[in-house]
Amino acid sequence: MLTSKKHSAQTFVLAVFTCLALLSPVAEKLLLAQPGGSGPVLPSAGLSGPVPDSPEIEARAQAMVAQMTLEQKISLLGGTDNMFTQAIPSVDLPRFKMSDGPLGVRTWGPTTAYAGGAALAATWDPMLARQVGEGLGRDARARGVHFLLALGVNIARSPVSGRNFEYLSEDPFLNGQLAVGYIQGVQSQGVSATVKHFAANNQEYDRHNVSSDVDERSLRELYMPAFESAVKVAKVDAVMNSYNLLNGVHATQNEFLNLKVLKGEWGFQGLLMSDWDSVYDGIGAANNGLDFEMPYAKFMNTKELLPAIKAGKVKTATIDDKILRLLRVALRYGWIGPDARPQQVDSLSTYSVADRAIALAGAREGLTLLKNDGHFLPLDPARVKTIAVLGPDAYPAVPGGGGSSQAQAFEPVSILTGLANLGAPLGVNVVYARGLPDVGDIFGNTQFEGDVRVELFANHEFQGKFVASTQHVVNDLKPAMWDATDPNPRSLRYAATYKPTQSGKYLLLAAASGEDSFAVKVDGKELLNQPHREGQIPLSATIELTAGKPITITADYIPYTPGVRLSIGLAPESSLVSADALRLAAKADAVVLAVGFNADTESEGYDRTFELPWGQDALIGAVVAANPRTVVTLTAGGAVDTRRWLGKVPALLHTFYPGQEGGTAIAEALLGKINPEGKLPVSFDNDWKENPSYNFYYSKKEADGLQHVHYKDGLMVGYRYWTSTGKHALYPFGYGLSYTTFSFGNLSVPATIKVGGQVSVSFDVTNTGAVAGAEVAQLYVSEPAAAVKRPERELKAFEKLRLAPGETRNVTLHLDARSFSYWDEATHGWKMNAGKFVVHVGDSSESTPLEATLTAAQ
Ligand code: BGC
Repeated sequence: MLTSKKHSAQTFVLAVFTCLALLSPVAEKLLLAQPGGSGPVLPSAGLSGPVPDSPEIEARAQAMVAQMTLEQKISLLGGTDNMFTQAIPSVDLPRFKMSDGPLGVRTWGPTTAYAGGAALAATWDPMLARQVGEGLGRDARARGVHFLLALGVNIARSPVSGRNFEYLSEDPFLNGQLAVGYIQGVQSQGVSATVKHFAANNQEYDRHNVSSDVDERSLRELYMPAFESAVKVAKVDAVMNSYNLLNGVHATQNEFLNLKVLKGEWGFQGLLMSDWDSVYDGIGAANNGLDFEMPYAKFMNTKELLPAIKAGKVKTATIDDKILRLLRVALRYGWIGPDARPQQVDSLSTYSVADRAIALAGAREGLTLLKNDGHFLPLDPARVKTIAVLGPDAYPAVPGGGGSSQAQAFEPVSILTGLANLGAPLGVNVVYARGLPDVGDIFGNTQFEGDVRVELFANHEFQGKFVASTQHVVNDLKPAMWDATDPNPRSLRYAATYKPTQSGKYLLLAAASGEDSFAVKVDGKELLNQPHREGQIPLSATIELTAGKPITITADYIPYTPGVRLSIGLAPESSLVSADALRLAAKADAVVLAVGFNADTESEGYDRTFELPWGQDALIGAVVAANPRTVVTLTAGGAVDTRRWLGKVPALLHTFYPGQEGGTAIAEALLGKINPEGKLPVSFDNDWKENPSYNFYYSKKEADGLQHVHYKDGLMVGYRYWTSTGKHALYPFGYGLSYTTFSFGNLSVPATIKVGGQVSVSFDVTNTGAVAGAEVAQLYVSEPAAAVKRPERELKAFEKLRLAPGETRNVTLHLDARSFSYWDEATHGWKMNAGKFVVHVGDSSESTPLEATLTAAQ
């Protein structure tokens, strides 16, 4: 719920290395656990998952419903206190507790923050996802949580979408495999997972208002399969609808989504809940599959539903069905009934050393090495005696992005701390500078020529009379996202003169908060524009100025909460990077430059920029000029604009949001204690404008009064687009380097398959290098002469392998009819045609050295 979301303070504890050293046997064991292998022995505390439905459970649920009045039943349809279901003491029904995820059990105080979302997807390791799920399940039981509001499985359609970091990948199959592991893990501990946000929530920009208009085939082939696997394979017990409308209808009252597909075709038996404040019509929602309105019954309440039931517009059986779903879940998990046991397990550690090891394993496995010219990495501690650790993401730790997923970790390890801890015993010194000023410094230090004139209007339109005043600076930013609405509409117009002291590039920066909007003009030309939306991040532009030649800055600002929260600043680009950082860089044997986003710049509620946050491109440029022996580490939910600097740095390590142990894992990878093994879960675009969704991303208000986003990219999302067009992303989906090399050989594919049948495909993977490492063997299927247009290739199987130097492993992967099928719009079903298919095997969507054809026959 909006009011409960507070960006967490990040803490930092020096003793962490000692603690991790003690952990290492478990951690090592985890690292070595093979997918499908036995994995580490973790504390069970006797926890168990739900039992299947049975006639006894059904009878008990029916008996409980029979004891309830209609008013009581309706009262159960909405939540309470932001994160609880309602209780009915007269029938011994307690309230059930929820917590946000998916990176940690985040709602109830500090917790373990795992490598979640994109970082988890970069591991390509469903077994690890299962362990993360089990860890979360234990963390939930230690806090008495019944429903974990995770996992988010929406497709990463566009790099700027604010929640990509919290979701998984651009591929439905990869998402499905990871979701199944994660959900089974959570539920095995007696906690219901909640797969979200159903469906097609692929942007944060205007998420409450946009209608994602998606053709049925793209929905079925891209946007739904991970939900389908969650329901059919993992047997998830709760699903959360999305904020966005789907094809013009709110998700919470969308018959096609909820009744036809979820509860009809997929046979979902659990509880369908709304996202927080996403119901618009109580009767529509009640009749179209929504079981439960969160955080409270704003619409599905007695006032709306009682008369509707009396008038025959909503059937009592419909209400009973919703209550029965909740009761069945509660009985199956043992939350109520004769075998009820306490959900809060006090013998479980709230701060869990075992779960910390899982967080470390996730952080290690997700690190994705994108560039490593001349074997720059790993750094050799025998020769690299001083490392300059620079950049805004070096310290404090950045375990996750912002919004409802932001878990407050007990002891998050920053990159600086991780390197210092690992480096010290090896005789490696670590020196640190942030390198860039804080955002507030830019605003506070901007000196305008004379005063800034401010005109205050008593409306949102800059109309009529105004009150004028003056001030020295425009420095009122107060970061707060969700606040009370201002009852008195106001707008403010600013005008100032700025006289540059030098010629060259200047940073123009402006920021406000929450839904406030502004437009900043330089000499009459609009350079920055923040529309009235749910959230925002500082906006910047680079402008060329001449020493002594004044410019006029004007800004129109509309606040939507009481007070004023606008800041505007200018600074020469050359002054942004601190002299300290450059001095340390120049003297060091190597530089680790940590750039990227954080919880304030990549978050739920708004989209992020494709460019790195302000000043960071300039920082990289200046640092590399001072010392070319620089590795860039990148904290982001996916691709960023690297064009200004990638050619100048020898190494780039993508860390995504690695969770609380990120700093340790990153240090280990940089110093060669572990071998990077992550693989890109998204295509890494060179330019956001080249992304296939770019032209179809922003919505327009149409004749029906709704904001529509037409998904005209259809199936051409991510690598499906790149491989179909023969064009190339900067780094392809599935790509990631290792300190060793691998080769693929001996592909064996049966010559034929029966339409509707199954085949097994086998091949060898060899570690051809000198160190142990992990490879992800990826299998893509093509149908070159398909009856309908299909993406050139699609991921249909994969396996992660850990191989010793020189070791060869024979891998067998299985394909079934669905692996060869497309969604047939004519019959509204999956269809596998007879004809030729190609199986491609390799280490990324664009590197598949093994290929064979097989022919499908009736
Ligand atoms: C988010 C959900 C979250 C809920 C509760 C919403 O804003 O979209 O993912 O579970 O808040 O915090």
